[in-house]
Amino acid sequence: MKIRKNDTILVLTGKDKGKKGKVRFAYPEEDRLLVEGVNFIKKHARAVKGARQAGIIELEAPIHISNVLLFCSKCNHPTRVSFSFLEDGRKVRFCRSCGEVID
Ligand SMILES: [Zn+2]
Repeated sequence: MKIRKNDTILVLTGKDKGKKGKVRFAYPEEDRLLVEGVNFIKKHARAVKGARQAGIIELEAPIHISNVLLFCSKCNHPTRVSFSFLEDGRKVRFCRSCGEVID
């Protein structure tokens, strides 16, 4: 998975296009990410006694990884990610804009 938990991403499509957010959760099997403050959906909720009232609640829904770009903290640009191997054999991600290693 090219994008992981705690990465900052930029949304490319949909109603949240142009928004930046932090990845709160990654779902590698589905290639989806739950991003803070992005892709809110409205849900009708039943009342839970003592916890909440019935009504409409807003929840973040996961978005597909192809709809986002990683935001590089080194060069401050949204970028595609490539993988590379270090001399010690570790696989790391690097930024295609500035060439810096991300992890
Ligand atoms: Zn960069």
